[in-house]
Amino acid sequence: MNDSPLFCRRCGAELPPGRAEFYVVKIEAFADPTVTITEEDLQRDIRADIARLVETMSGLSEQEAMDQVYRKLTIYLCNACYREWIEHPTG
Ligand SMILES: [Zn+2]
Repeated sequence: MNDSPLFCRRCGAELPPGRAEFYVVKIEAFADPTVTITEEDLQRDIRADIARLVETMSGLSEQEAMDQVYRKLTIYLCNACYREWIEHPTG
């Protein structure tokens, strides 16, 4: 681990290393991986779709485009915040 101090992502408390006072939470988020291209999709004229997609993507950096399909992040939570968060991670 690096030497810069860690802070709780929720309450901002400083998290001293080596005292079992915080949790590391790793989050991986994927865009729907079950999307498949059907025969019908291939037969349709997809030029308009592609033009629209290119237009949407052209405003984005490569990183931003990647972020739309995959995000991975690590957050730190103090013990108190962790106990609340893990019960209601989406609330
Ligand atoms: Zn906290």
